[in-house]
Amino acid sequence: MAVALTLGGGCGDDDGGDNANQSWLDGGQGDAATLGDGGVDGGGQTDAQSGDCDSPTSGEVGEPNPAQGQVGHTEAAHWRFNRFAALTISFDDSTPGQANHGVPAMIARGLTGTWFVNPGTDPYQAYLDVWEVDAPQNGQELANHSMHHSGAADYAEAEAEIGDAAQVIWSVYPPERSRLHGFNNGGGTDWNVTASEYETLLDQYHCVERLHSTGIASATLAADLFPQIRDRLMLDPSAGGWADGWGLIHFHGLCDPVGNDNGHCICTTANPCEEWGEGVLSAAVELGEFTTFLDGLVTDNWVVDNVWIDGFIAVYKYQQLRDDASFLFVPLPQNEDELAIRLVSTQGLDPTLYDEELTLITNAPPTWTTCVAVQCGQILACEVVDGSAVYGARLGHGDISLSGN
Ligand SMILES: [Zn+2]
Repeated sequence: MAVALTLGGGCGDDDGGDNANQSWLDGGQGDAATLGDGGVDGGGQTDAQSGDCDSPTSGEVGEPNPAQGQVGHTEAAHWRFNRFAALTISFDDSTPGQANHGVPAMIARGLTGTWFVNPGTDPYQAYLDVWEVDAPQNGQELANHSMHHSGAADYAEAEAEIGDAAQVIWSVYPPERSRLHGFNNGGGTDWNVTASEYETLLDQYHCVERLHSTGIASATLAADLFPQIRDRLMLDPSAGGWADGWGLIHFHGLCDPVGNDNGHCICTTANPCEEWGEGVLSAAVELGEFTTFLDGLVTDNWVVDNVWIDGFIAVYKYQQLRDDASFLFVPLPQNEDELAIRLVSTQGLDPTLYDEELTLITNAPPTWTTCVAVQCGQILACEVVDGSAVYGARLGHGDISLSGN
């Protein structure tokens, strides 16, 4: 195998991203090995000495990406793991039903949900451990729904509503994690600020607005949520589907009609359930329907093979990186069977904010049946599929060394 590695130590697990060390092969944790001081060059290098972790993230350093069809030509997969479509499952208002049932159900199935929370409200405070410990420590993505779901009378209040919620969200994750997070200002609220003041606040607090959302109408909740969502994922966009695109659904209430949810839920035969959230009754999904939906997502073969299910900000970051990425081909002296590829951002995206792993596809030499990809001392999962090496890599984490046999 033509592996000629010159690896330094360090920087392998310092990204702090929510997908640290994930491998595209299994989407799980811990698949990427870190080659540290025991690497080929012997021990003790620093990043600066090895140069493996500090390649430019923009600019024109290196040869252009080889033309399509040539060995080394590299593209970003449309979605992570080269899946057919992306799906984000989000929840608004941090309701008791979400805390009691939703968060544990998602965690139990290894699914990441995006929780648009209101940290200043009583229901949130009543389940502080769920929102600030269980959810963030088990891969869930918190997003900003403002502190009190109350809108804002002026600029100062708007800053407090957006900024204080951002601070709460940042505080429950490691400090080095990207500060970008999802934002939705709360249905039915008034924000008495100008459009440019509003934009300034969103920029200042690294908020990304949830721009489109399918939502869940109460009629949809009655039954068979899973096949409805699967059908839409398969359907062409011209027919209202999400094929090749990003499906985003959001839940409000979540109720167990036979449990102890009577304090915050009303369940009738006409409308399965409603749950109080921020002073209004919103359509709620029944717990049994909800868990059937989640079970479908993790057991249906077509969904498992074709749909990348992840949080709002993870998919957003991927989309921005994918549309922005360009690739340079860096000549390597060691071996003609080894390629070195530099991932750069044409718009100068900040790698500390845009830390999502991109799935890259590189035309491999025709003799390759297996491949090894290394970035910044980490061996990345790599697979040769139809003559291409498919692997994951990050902006700002050094040049990618690709070899195979
Ligand atoms: Zn809301």
